[in-house]
Amino acid sequence: MAKASKSQNTAPSAAEKPTKEAVQDNTPVIDLPRSITVRQLADNLKIDSIGIIKQLMRNGIMANINQVIDYETASSVVASFGFKAHLTPIKDQLLASAVEEGKRRKQKYGKDSANLVTRPPVVTVMGHVDHGKTKLLDAIRKTNVVDSEAGGITQHIGAYQVTIDGQKITFLDTPGHEAFTAMRAHGANITDITILVVAADDGVMPQTKEAINHARAAGVPIVVAINKIDKDNADPNRVKQQLTEAGLVIEEWGGNIVAVEVSAKEKKGIKQLLESVLLVAEMEELKANPNLPAAGVVIEAEMDKTMGPLATVLIQSGTLKEEDTVVVGTTWGRVRAMFNDNGKRIKKAEPSMPVEILGLDEVPEVGDTLTAATDERHAQAILTRRRAEKEKESLKNQAVNLDNLYDQINTGKVKELNVILKTDVQGSLEPIRTSLERLGGEEVKVRIIHSAAGNVTESDVMLAAASNGLIIGFNVSATEGAKHLANTTGVDISFYKIIYTLIDEVEKALKGMLEPKYVEVIEGRADVRAVFSAGKGAKAAGVMVAEGKVTRNAQVRVRRGKETLVESTVISLKRFKDDAKEVQAGYECGVGVKDFNDFKVGDVLEFYKVEKSRR
Ligand code: GDP
Repeated sequence: MAKASKSQNTAPSAAEKPTKEAVQDNTPVIDLPRSITVRQLADNLKIDSIGIIKQLMRNGIMANINQVIDYETASSVVASFGFKAHLTPIKDQLLASAVEEGKRRKQKYGKDSANLVTRPPVVTVMGHVDHGKTKLLDAIRKTNVVDSEAGGITQHIGAYQVTIDGQKITFLDTPGHEAFTAMRAHGANITDITILVVAADDGVMPQTKEAINHARAAGVPIVVAINKIDKDNADPNRVKQQLTEAGLVIEEWGGNIVAVEVSAKEKKGIKQLLESVLLVAEMEELKANPNLPAAGVVIEAEMDKTMGPLATVLIQSGTLKEEDTVVVGTTWGRVRAMFNDNGKRIKKAEPSMPVEILGLDEVPEVGDTLTAATDERHAQAILTRRRAEKEKESLKNQAVNLDNLYDQINTGKVKELNVILKTDVQGSLEPIRTSLERLGGEEVKVRIIHSAAGNVTESDVMLAAASNGLIIGFNVSATEGAKHLANTTGVDISFYKIIYTLIDEVEKALKGMLEPKYVEVIEGRADVRAVFSAGKGAKAAGVMVAEGKVTRNAQVRVRRGKETLVESTVISLKRFKDDAKEVQAGYECGVGVKDFNDFKVGDVLEFYKVEKSRR
């Protein structure tokens, strides 16, 4: 899209008060699409978005910076700034974005480009619950089955390939953005294209918006399937309107998003949908070199009672062959047999093909990468390196939180603070979002990657984990599942009840001025079973560790009923006569507590440590 070019004397500077009179025939022209967000318009005009928002207000339109405005509204705004609008033809828009994309891909593939061949796109299906994701995946699978095979085929693994007009498409069979983002959180960005299913009778719903944000955060292009058009109350136009409001402007309306009307139930529109996917795939120029040793990602893994570890792997480049030695995550093996999506034994698998492999030493994790090795020694070398890297990563790869934000900015690890914002009511979103975005400076930008009303969910945590972001909740709480996931992934969730405090803390965190907060983490509990002398008048408690563990030097609280007798530290920890560093639940040990001798059988010792908190 052409950017604004101003001739020296004719146009007033954007900072001057705009007047309509400035528009004359020699006015500079600016190309605009049929619809555009306020932010994009500001970028094109090279002025601050606030200027656009103010001008819209003068025209009686209240809009925020992400709002989509139509061509007519945008033309009157640009006129106020001394430009004449010109409607960009759709073809040019598509071409421009395809050229940009192509450039990006070529850079990515580098010198290997001579050996690259086109590979099938890998597609996931996302959308709101009950909008027909499963049914659509089913319809697509069945569309592809040739008559002679019908009924005879049962899908074997969590992905399948279909052939349309002689070209293949790979579908990942776990619908929903949770699965999609879980893979990303593992660092496995395997989706090339997302089909966003929106039911024509229900329209754009919260999870539809979530899915859009998840796909955007991953930079994955979207093809929209407007489903259930067979229903009497289907209203595809309303869906298109809502999609535009959500920032997805479809081709028909001047945008570059392809939307296809389908009925998964009656299997209508499926072929067009698949053709659209292929079209987008073509623009994406998806390529891989099949002549290399294979590389891929685990999409499913399990332990089979008779066959041992089984893993379904999506091949991303190279060709995997039977008998290849492979390293998968931190395990390895020799491919004893491979099966395709129909359970048929195959000898080789090429890029974008999902295959089930047999012969690994252990069950790998979903998201682990597969690398083919030249021989066993090479495999062992890769394994050693990977295990060391994994250990280093787990130490180094600390998730960003308000306490370490400043350090992460300074070490260059964070340039953009990705925030997921959850509030109790819709009305609080905008003011908080605007204030947060304004906090960003030269070094770091605050980017709200997802915002919605409602409690913090697992899906929010996964998105944060995948985008190295943090979650801010205003007057909301987190679901149990979300809390658990935040703990295991290290994602920071901060809750606030006062907008001022929220903004203030984020601002301080950005500037490195935030005072740390400390919380207590319970490490274990033990029941006193006996009391014995520890010399020099001191007493020790003979305990059974009931939960967690006891460590030497831990902080400890002695409880009798509801009363806390003392808060102190462990000074001695013994298993039989020997000193111990730690004792796990289920074992007995002797514990001495600093400055405390008054143990009684039945007392409870609670061991804890104090940590910097996630606020
Ligand atoms: P998911 O939660 O998105 O996976 O949705 P499902 O695929 O389970 O579909 C939810 C419900 O909508 C089921 O009862 C389907 O039979 C129904 N459904 C799905 N697609 C269509 C469609 O094209 N037309 C009609 N009438 N119903 C559909």
